Amino acid sequence: MLKKCLLSLLWVCTSVSAQDYFLKKYEPYDPKIPSPEAFLEYGIGEKHTRHDLIVSYLMTLAELSDRASIEVYGRSHEGRKLVILTISSSDNVSRLPEMKKEHLAFTDPALNPTNYEALPIFINMVYNVHGNEPSGGEAALLMAYTMVASEHPTIKKYRENSIIFLDPVINPDGRDRHTHWVSMYQGSPNVADPSDAEHNESWPRGRTNHYWFDMNRDWYLGIHPGSRGKLNWYHQWYPNVVTDFHEMGSQSTYFFEPMKTNGSLNPIMPKENYEDLNELFGTYFSSALDSVGTFYFTKEVFDGTYPGYGSSYPDLQGGLALLFEQAS
Ligand SMILES: [Zn+2]
Repeated sequence: MLKKCLLSLLWVCTSVSAQDYFLKKYEPYDPKIPSPEAFLEYGIGEKHTRHDLIVSYLMTLAELSDRASIEVYGRSHEGRKLVILTISSSDNVSRLPEMKKEHLAFTDPALNPTNYEALPIFINMVYNVHGNEPSGGEAALLMAYTMVASEHPTIKKYRENSIIFLDPVINPDGRDRHTHWVSMYQGSPNVADPSDAEHNESWPRGRTNHYWFDMNRDWYLGIHPGSRGKLNWYHQWYPNVVTDFHEMGSQSTYFFEPMKTNGSLNPIMPKENYEDLNELFGTYFSSALDSVGTFYFTKEVFDGTYPGYGSSYPDLQGGLALLFEQAS
């Protein structure tokens, strides 16, 4: 019993400190903007956040700040709103229509522009395509708050040099199914025992959407209304980079690209993406994870064989798609 209590305590401590080190690093924050904790009235990691609250929080950010705007790009089968929060410097946000035009010129072979330095990078951060991988939607709240409200020089630089399209939950029907399960069984104090009902979600589980379809296979097929909305949005913007956040086994660590060579490098993933760009980005991810002293691995698993993953489709569209996995 004591062992269980200690484990629970450790879990609470690590979840709180995880949030602290992330937010503390980018202080100060604009006091007019509520943090996710102030808005939700609990700390990120203490509960699973309902999808409607995630959308409400992002709408609040867009309402309070001229660094953000929000659009609804579709609806799930169960009617939940699919949203993208656009974040950048207020100057970039006001000039977005003309920047869009210049950015899209890169997709037209007849124009052949070369003004790479004049434009920011267009990044689409995509979370929670698998509904029962809940850290994605929670991380999206922390990321949105940091990018909108932080006055730290590093974050200011990110805003000036990028347009961030934050898509907090691709599969809200699955996410809420999972959230409901966990909330129904969550104990107080928290129970770390893997055989506890909280950790053994019953069929059909929250990974898939309303029709139990894996939304991370639909980027290519475009069968479901959410995916169609997302693809319409995608082809209006052609982001340079797409980041796709997932969870894997609870005993695992962290994973980032490159994925395993067999089934990833060519023909789906261009050689330049697999070898040069993954390598370039990977050095940043490894030093970031080293700085918080955590384990990670790369290149051993996952593949880009199928062109309808969030981490492969953008590779075929002239962008760079990046898969991230963390222990559940
Ligand atoms: Zn996943």
